[in-house]
Amino acid sequence: MTNRKKILVLPGDGIGPEVMYETRRIMNWMEENGAVSFEIEEGLVGGASIDEHNVPLTDAVLDQALSSDAILFGAVGGPKWASVEFDKRPEIGILKLRQSLDLFANLRPAIVFSALAHASSLKPDLVTGLNLMIVRELTGGVYFGEPRGIETLPNGDRRAVNTQTYTTPEIVRVARIAFELARKRNGRVCSVEKANVMESGVLWREEVETLQNSEYPDVELTHMYADNAAMQLVRTPKQFDVIVTDNLFGDILSDCASMLTGSLGMLPSASLGAVDSYGSRRALYEPIHGSAPDIAGTGAANPLAMILSFAMMLRYSFDLGNTADLVESSVSNVLNAGLRTDDIMQEGKSRVTTSEMGDAVLDFLDQKNR
Ligand code: NAD
Repeated sequence: MTNRKKILVLPGDGIGPEVMYETRRIMNWMEENGAVSFEIEEGLVGGASIDEHNVPLTDAVLDQALSSDAILFGAVGGPKWASVEFDKRPEIGILKLRQSLDLFANLRPAIVFSALAHASSLKPDLVTGLNLMIVRELTGGVYFGEPRGIETLPNGDRRAVNTQTYTTPEIVRVARIAFELARKRNGRVCSVEKANVMESGVLWREEVETLQNSEYPDVELTHMYADNAAMQLVRTPKQFDVIVTDNLFGDILSDCASMLTGSLGMLPSASLGAVDSYGSRRALYEPIHGSAPDIAGTGAANPLAMILSFAMMLRYSFDLGNTADLVESSVSNVLNAGLRTDDIMQEGKSRVTTSEMGDAVLDFLDQKNR
């Protein structure tokens, strides 16, 4: 039994609480079987928090987040809150969390379970066995750079400006995460920018290279222009291990990589921050999908992205790689056994509900534990 991990659970809205419920059952199983011990707090976020407190994230929940070892987040938003003023919308809850915790690195794995290779938009042989990780810088670059805005020129034309800006520390801290991840994977990092036409890309490339030379000579580093990376992702995605890139290119490339895997309901993510004075890293784990109001309450939600987000928490916040492997291989077994929620349904397979999918993952955990 390891130390107790303090987890803040924020189910949110729509299918968020439904997929979180199944994940809590997996967490309970872990505790009952002595794999890990949790101290769990649960809070409101998004629309659920607006209904109760009139804000999408209260200071009290933010304080809980700041004092947790890790946060497990469901999803927020929905038509019920569509007319709420912009700075009080449910989605502000997650943005405020990312900002307050300074979660500067977004990790988006693109993993294709062999049983689902048919669901990809690419030919199965191109994606079977795919397992790549995109590390996107999340708090800098053109989405935040100043100056920004729209002005009217003296001749009446309008002009819009956004500024791409990066500093050495911003580049180094996210590149460091990519190199550390590569060490635990297949030892390869591909750094993506546009050094051919952007000075920010030149700096990005130089700083990543300097870091690799000085601290990670054991990790293989290659560079690629972002336009080529987009092409290579759909041509031969299995060539990549870890991709590290800036906020803008990461936004686009990570969505592109997601679709290689077929369904939103299968994709986890992590957002990591700096290591604090106690040596632990701030971290939030969430599925990449939203609150799916169109299927909320119908039992059709796929809980696997949320369960796989929990597996990422075990691996990256608590260094419990073997326990994470156990969860991931149980998910893989469930798929191999032909169980499918609506979003990944295919002919000849068995359609299951959210809770039946949770049951099946638990059954495989039990079998592996015997
Ligand atoms: P969405 O991801 O909620 O849904 C897109 C489609 O995918 C829907 O048809 C939905 O039914 C399906 N889907 C999503 N997750 C699924 C799952 N686990 N199982 C089965 N099917 C699944 O995106 P959207 O419809 O654009 O947004 C709905 C709401 O979610 C909006 O309010 C949006 O702002 C919010 N949103 C929140 C987050 C977040 O909390 N981080 C992320 C994206 C969208």
